[in-house]
Amino acid sequence: MSSTTTAAATAIYQDRLDRVRAGMTEQGIDAVMLSVGHDLPYLTGYLAMPLERLTMLVIPRDGEASLVIPQLEAPRVVEQSGVFTLVPWGETANPVEIAARLAGAASKVAVGDQIWARFLVELLRHLPGATYLRAVDVVGPLRIVKDAAEVAALRAAGDAADRVAQQLHSGDIPLVGRTEAEVSKDISARLIAEGHQKVNFAIVAAGANAASPHHHASDRVIDAGEIVLCDFGGTMDDYCSDTTRCVFTGEPAGDVAEAYAVLHEAQAAAVAAATVGTPCEDVDRAARRVIADAGFGAYFIHRTGHGIGLEEHEDPYIVEGNSTPLLAGHAFSIEPGIYVPGKWGMRLEDIVVAADSGPDSLNNSDHTLVPV
Ligand code: ZN
Ligand code: ZN
Ligand code: ZN
Repeated sequence: MSSTTTAAATAIYQDRLDRVRAGMTEQGIDAVMLSVGHDLPYLTGYLAMPLERLTMLVIPRDGEASLVIPQLEAPRVVEQSGVFTLVPWGETANPVEIAARLAGAASKVAVGDQIWARFLVELLRHLPGATYLRAVDVVGPLRIVKDAAEVAALRAAGDAADRVAQQLHSGDIPLVGRTEAEVSKDISARLIAEGHQKVNFAIVAAGANAASPHHHASDRVIDAGEIVLCDFGGTMDDYCSDTTRCVFTGEPAGDVAEAYAVLHEAQAAAVAAATVGTPCEDVDRAARRVIADAGFGAYFIHRTGHGIGLEEHEDPYIVEGNSTPLLAGHAFSIEPGIYVPGKWGMRLEDIVVAADSGPDSLNNSDHTLVPV
């Protein structure tokens, strides 16, 4: 929300908290308690560092929300009057006791997924009679549907990542003779230069290394005549980018070019399938069918995609077994891959938003296996 004015931001957080309270009423939840993780910035604009000291937003259904925070972290919080009250705690205080007191006589408590176990165990002692649920049941349905400002932020981050992809395609990022790690560092610097505040990952995998989907960029020197898979993304104004492009150092050899044509078709089929109302698993099937029909089914070893927003990976997951229908505002990756161990690997990834007008791809750099 860094680009939004304070008053506008406050209105956004106020509205989100109102909708959380509506969900609490519907589900009979007395208090929502959120610690580190991204529900907190979604509702307050504040991202807590994953510290050993407790930070916790306590939202009683009928009372005012409080942000319990280590005193030394309090200066980093942008206060949103009317949204929450800041409750700083000093080094000798017991923050769990404070949070429990603010929750009142709650009998049904929903906690965030990323509260450390040590704090939850203590909380159980302070609210002994309470029943516990996951706060994702209340906050998740809100976060999964991106509003126009969120889609705009994702699009801006996607554009920035696309500019780095274009630099890869044009040969501005030298490959042959450099190590994967050097290229990864180069891509990371370019993500920052194009406007990201933070790099989340820059996978660079050459030749057979590309057969490992999450390969860690190594000291392996990139050679002529091989595929180079680059999967990179970062955070820009709180929202994430994530795109994968493969290039070939030279003219792609027969088997790689053939497989890539299949991958390209599979990715396009899944993007086309990502219409409002389509179950997530049907989008996965659309990509998988093309790859399986070409005989590579055993080599597509992961789900087709993941949701994206404040977090790199969040709901909805584009995977078999997820029958959730896509709604307008769902944002997710479409990233099928083919990985032949010991030989090569390839993946093609765009972020797509389901919209009433059809699938809206936020990544639009060249989809072909560009020779560099
Ligand atoms: Zn990726
Ligand atoms: Zn991804
Ligand atoms: Zn394409």
